[in-house]
Amino acid sequence: MRVPILDLKAQYATYKSEAVRAISEVCESQSFALGPAVAEFEEKIAAYCGSKYAIGVSSGSDALLVSLMALEIKPGDEVITTPFTFFATAGSIARLGARPVFVDVEYDSYNIDASLIEEKITEKTRAIIPVHLFGQAAQMKPMTDIAQRHDISVIEDAAQAIGASQDGIRCGNFGDCGCFSFYPSKNLGCFGDGGLVTTNREDLAEKIKVLRNHGQDSTYFYKVIGGNFRLDGIQGAVLSVKLKYVDQWNEKRRQHGVLYDSVFADSPVRPPKIDSNNVSIYHQYTVTVPERDQLQKFLAENKIGSAVFYPKPLHLQDCFRELGYKNGDFPVAERLCGEVLSLPVYPELTSEQIEYVAKTVLKFYELN
Ligand SMILES: *Cc1c(COP(=O)(O)O)cnc(C)c1O
Repeated sequence: MRVPILDLKAQYATYKSEAVRAISEVCESQSFALGPAVAEFEEKIAAYCGSKYAIGVSSGSDALLVSLMALEIKPGDEVITTPFTFFATAGSIARLGARPVFVDVEYDSYNIDASLIEEKITEKTRAIIPVHLFGQAAQMKPMTDIAQRHDISVIEDAAQAIGASQDGIRCGNFGDCGCFSFYPSKNLGCFGDGGLVTTNREDLAEKIKVLRNHGQDSTYFYKVIGGNFRLDGIQGAVLSVKLKYVDQWNEKRRQHGVLYDSVFADSPVRPPKIDSNNVSIYHQYTVTVPERDQLQKFLAENKIGSAVFYPKPLHLQDCFRELGYKNGDFPVAERLCGEVLSLPVYPELTSEQIEYVAKTVLKFYELN
């Protein structure tokens, strides 16, 4: 049996005719940059997320960048975030000349450890960017309390968490804004690059709409310096089609997670721990194991795909050398980088495939 880490073609087959029709309508309208298909999608996704405003942008990375711009983060400012995330979380901070200040993560949830944040706050701290990693929300209550006490902003990096919730509230509504990615491999992916900012603040929504179109407030008049962060009409049309299915796809992933968990109980494999107030969307099903690299090799020999998110924490990346961090600064993030392994969890997998993957993992430990 062959089980790839992700098979987007299997999913495409289930909604192909609708997507092709929707794309063709955009082609007929020739309205490719923003336009009615994007406006329609923004309305639907705002309702889905339970947010007052949703602004389509060019990628998840640009969602983070434009949110920081709207909050007027400038050179010299400090923004607190996790070192155990995709590069763009910290890259967006650094691109504005601000300084990413890292805080270690929890070994169980892989998310930022809120109890370590307050000691890192200085006069220069302007915002916190928690990441809802692998589809599970970071614990938001302690973070929004800290932010309120110190009058700083919270931007949720919800790129991996569309539809995930905490205490019954969907991600993207806890902070000042929420940033989503529609990169093709995300739980809701488009046919290229795309992203979204959600917010319940009218002032931020207005600012972000202006910033995503160069800062233009009326045709060829500019109040602020923005950029081209527009979402394409074709992406809006595809996303409206796929949004109808995202809950059922997320539910399938959760069922796969339950099945994996049951096979891994009482084994050397530590399954992902989901906090009791969270509903995860399992963007990844990520376990921690000793001998990670040997296990990954064994799985590949058995035609099973797996992936390491992420092999190197951000504080040790060459591009952030000037921040002055060193090995040992964030022991939990560093340890996770050596132990995490993500297994196939995409919705179209059959339970036979999940069982085959899980049993092959256990076989590795029987043989070693
Ligand atoms: C995917 C991702 C991003 C960036 O999104 P793009 O659409 O690829 O620019 C940012 N943060 C996290 C945590 C992500 O997983």
